[in-house]
Amino acid sequence: MRNNGSSTNQYNLLRKTSEAMLNTSGTDIDKMSREDIRNLVCEFQVYQIELELQNEELRRAQHQLALSLDRYAQLYDYAPIGFLTLDQEGIIVQANLKAAKILRCEKNQLLGKKVAEFIHEEEQDKFYFYSRELLKVLEKPSSEFRIRTQDDHHTFIEIQSALNLSDEKGIRVMMVINDITQRKQNEETIQSLNHRLQNTVYSQTDELLRTNQELQQKLQELAGSKHELLNREARLNSIFNAAVEGIITINDIGIIESVNASVTTIFGYEKQELIGQNIKMLMPSGHDDKRDTYLIDYLKSNKPAIIGTVRELRGRHKDGTLVPIDLSVAEFEIDGNRYYTGLLRDVTERKHKELKDKEHLAELAHVTRLGLMGEMASGIAHEVNQPLTAITNYTQVCLNLLSSPTVDPIKLSETLQKTHQQALKAGQIIHRMRDFVRSRTIQRTQVDINDLVQTAIALCEAECKQLQIHHKTELSTSLPKVYVDYVQIEQVLLNLMRNSVEALHAMSEGRHKQLIVQTYLNEKNQIEVRVKDNGPGLDESQQLQVLKPFYTTKDSGMGMGLSISRSIVEAHNGLLRFNSKKNKGSTFYFTLPVL
Ligand code: ADP
Repeated sequence: MRNNGSSTNQYNLLRKTSEAMLNTSGTDIDKMSREDIRNLVCEFQVYQIELELQNEELRRAQHQLALSLDRYAQLYDYAPIGFLTLDQEGIIVQANLKAAKILRCEKNQLLGKKVAEFIHEEEQDKFYFYSRELLKVLEKPSSEFRIRTQDDHHTFIEIQSALNLSDEKGIRVMMVINDITQRKQNEETIQSLNHRLQNTVYSQTDELLRTNQELQQKLQELAGSKHELLNREARLNSIFNAAVEGIITINDIGIIESVNASVTTIFGYEKQELIGQNIKMLMPSGHDDKRDTYLIDYLKSNKPAIIGTVRELRGRHKDGTLVPIDLSVAEFEIDGNRYYTGLLRDVTERKHKELKDKEHLAELAHVTRLGLMGEMASGIAHEVNQPLTAITNYTQVCLNLLSSPTVDPIKLSETLQKTHQQALKAGQIIHRMRDFVRSRTIQRTQVDINDLVQTAIALCEAECKQLQIHHKTELSTSLPKVYVDYVQIEQVLLNLMRNSVEALHAMSEGRHKQLIVQTYLNEKNQIEVRVKDNGPGLDESQQLQVLKPFYTTKDSGMGMGLSISRSIVEAHNGLLRFNSKKNKGSTFYFTLPVL
């Protein structure tokens, strides 16, 4: 460019010089000196050379311009984006290859067509407004259009346009088009993915909402349950504190965790004196070890030795006195820790009553024994009478022996021996009677039931003989001992035997009258004593009443014998029953636990 500038300047200078020379010398070349002409020719030659150089320069510039145009045409054609030039009617006047490819048309066929022809019919309106807008604003940012395709594929282009007002051929629209089908598809894919994602989010949100709702419902239920629990706890607490029974909770090593108000009443300790202490403090010394063993045994074997049963034991009051209590123990577990709840009932009153009942029963038994003896008096008198008669006879013999001139000392001694024996016999009967009627406290001892039966039979024997009643015993051997009050059980047996004797006596003469006393070990491992007769028996209405107090069919009877006998047997943890059939006989029997 600098070369071009300097040659133009030189050319202008040369022209100006030659014009000046021509002005000074005029047009008449004849007036010019040879020197001037030579100079002029020389200058013309220089000027010519200059011109030729310039000409050469121009040709080169032209060539380069042609090359540039070529390159521009190639760049234009092979550009990676589509270019269209439209006239103001919208007709394509220029297009590159990419534009043709995008619009799916040969490049030369594009020329002369309107862009609108390539736009999809559904987008025609949109393109119309786009074109109109462009004329107003001169330059339009990109806009997207769907184009027509033969296979009805969805193909999209992006158009960006600007107006060129400076073209000599009039207004030109410079249009850049881009195939955005792939981008659109990607967008659609992303959109559908977004849509799916949104759906997933929606469904998850729904799910979350539902879960939330369920949680809220559960929370409400929990609140309800909590309320219910609090109510229940309040109720339980009120029961706990108002309970007549003492309630103590201990842990698995016997430490007291809680006590209710009754515990403090039963044992005299304040609540705070008990909490945290060992349960031993409420047990009498000597008992606590045993109690500990129960718990330890239970924990070791996991078999409840005391759980669920009521035990009668004695507790230790704060003042040192012993309190009789009934204890039942329940077990529960919290967080893997075992606890035991003991329910304690102060049974002092009951014990007192039981003692009173026993004393009352003893008194009653004594009174009825006296009555029984009264009834048996004639039989016993007869029994005593026999040895007394024998004694009278033997003493008469002795007197006779002594009055004879020769006293036979051997015979006398034998007779005196017999007298002595009879006196002993009478003494024994009287001794037994006295024993029987004596007022005494209850005394339990180990008793051989067969011995007891024999003693009782001895007291009845005389009467049986008198009334021609055959009596016999069927006694099992080797029976275990019973732990009873001898006199009271003898009383029961005598009472049953006396009833049988009286029932048999009331029967018509000439019949075989039999009384059997049996002892044996029944299937429940209890001693059973049976008194069996073949007397008149009891009808159904009698059977319903016979064990009730004051029921009697005898003129001089009190109707207390059987009811007292039953009370005595029950006080010994046994049972008194009977079987009877009218005109066939009766069997009265009672059981006693073996020792
Ligand atoms: P009591 O002997 O004073 O009448 P009990 O209570 O001993 O009182 O007997 C009640 C009644 O039962 C008797 O009066 C009698 O009627 C009836 N009884 C008891 N034992 C027998 C028996 N072995 N045979 C028939 N009746 C009997």
